[in-house]
Amino acid sequence: MSATPVMACVALGANLGDAVATVQQALRDVAALPETRLLKASSLYRSAPYEAQGPDFINAVALVYTQLSPLALLHALQALELQCGRERPFKNAPRTLDLDIIFYGDVSLDTPELTLPHPRWQERAFVLQPLAEVWPERVSAVQLAGVKDQAIQRMA
Ligand code: ADP
Ligand code: MG
Repeated sequence: MSATPVMACVALGANLGDAVATVQQALRDVAALPETRLLKASSLYRSAPYEAQGPDFINAVALVYTQLSPLALLHALQALELQCGRERPFKNAPRTLDLDIIFYGDVSLDTPELTLPHPRWQERAFVLQPLAEVWPERVSAVQLAGVKDQAIQRMA
């Protein structure tokens, strides 16, 4: 018997190399994960590094239905990061590809490997703005007002 699909939100970010192509490819890769179906992908956004370094980031979010468990989804996303040549020389280093689980249904989890919902999603314009595009009811005006000073731009 297979598990009931759960709606999860994956945030994508890249700021090294051809970040636009990386995020576009990563959206296709996320859509192609086993037991997973892409529901909606946001536009791409360009954001100034926030608590991070290097060139501007390209960001997007994907809403998926998945039958993968939270940890299986995390591991599948980490495999995609590695495939993209990601290294972790230090915390918040520039990255070829960062894939975070923002939420997984209404699951709450606090383990060393995985925290759900993602602990910092409400502080980040590069999550809130694309999420508001694909699921407006999930993001409040107060949340958006809280990140209005972070430079972010929806790309054409
Ligand atoms: P960050 O995404 O915070 O910039 P990393 O991508 O290097 O940093 O992630 C560091 C660790 O965060 C990962 O090894 C992963 O185990 C952990 N982590 C905890 N919660 C989550 C989550 N919701 N989504 C993705 N990674 C998470
Ligand atoms: Mg991450």
